[in-house]
Amino acid sequence: MLTITREHVIYDMCREHKPVANVNQDTDFLFETRDASDGQVVTGGEWYAGLDRRRANPATGPVYINGAMPGDTLAVSIKRIDVASAGYVRAGKDKGVLGAYLHGGELVRMNIVKDADTGAEYADFRAAGLRIALNKMVGVIGTAPPDFRSISTIEPGLHGGNLDDKDIGEGSVVLLPVNVPGALLALGDIHAAMGDGESSISGLECEAGVTVSVKVLRGKVYPLPMVVTPRHVSTVASHEDLDKAAELAVANMVDYLCGYEGFSKYHALMMVSMVGDVRICQLVNPKKTARVEFPLEYLTKREVHPC
Ligand code: CA
Ligand code: CA
Repeated sequence: MLTITREHVIYDMCREHKPVANVNQDTDFLFETRDASDGQVVTGGEWYAGLDRRRANPATGPVYINGAMPGDTLAVSIKRIDVASAGYVRAGKDKGVLGAYLHGGELVRMNIVKDADTGAEYADFRAAGLRIALNKMVGVIGTAPPDFRSISTIEPGLHGGNLDDKDIGEGSVVLLPVNVPGALLALGDIHAAMGDGESSISGLECEAGVTVSVKVLRGKVYPLPMVVTPRHVSTVASHEDLDKAAELAVANMVDYLCGYEGFSKYHALMMVSMVGDVRICQLVNPKKTARVEFPLEYLTKREVHPC
């Protein structure tokens, strides 16, 4: 299988980056990813206040998708996430939603192991006497933006980026815009576990291998980014103001239901209000991210599918 090794990292999404590989549609390939500290965290027990922010959230890539042209939509199937045997989580001063109230901080490294009886993977949060069930997901996934701006991999946006959406796990499909020839796909910032909000600014951050395949969808205009899981389709939106991010995600879902399912605007909004869930992806990036989940069972046309 083609492997994009973790020596190929970028710290921003930009059309100027030279692709490190060309890939075809419907062919599995593997991204090796660094952890969110870019390998700066090597031990635990102290507060890494001095992490070099310029190296935060590296993404592996970018990859040129053969045949992808501006105006297309890139569907990225997340086939498998293999996480390293250890990861870290941190909380402290000036970070996350409570950072203003904290004076110190702590970083905990923990092993990721398999239960001998069940084979289920868990993180051993020994300091708290707990086992954490894994919820493996991709924090950063995106394509190059349409103009000559470069967007830091710390930022979420219309191009994807640092969405920290815990729906982006094994078995999900991420829909992203193709703004430049080849799309220039990159991903990184894998979490072995993360709750909605990522309140402290950190999931269980780890190196990983992510197996994906891609498809290029033509002739459709979706309110991107979107994610499809085996249970629901979601619209994902980011804004400095969380209320606005939620509003944009709702508006995008209404647009999707009107455009692709044939609902009237009012019926679409009623459906979102009755069976859709507005959720927080993350509260801790420069722009906050919200999503609206809409159950697949209420979609008849199924324009987009989980893998
Ligand atoms: Ca992140
Ligand atoms: Ca992270």
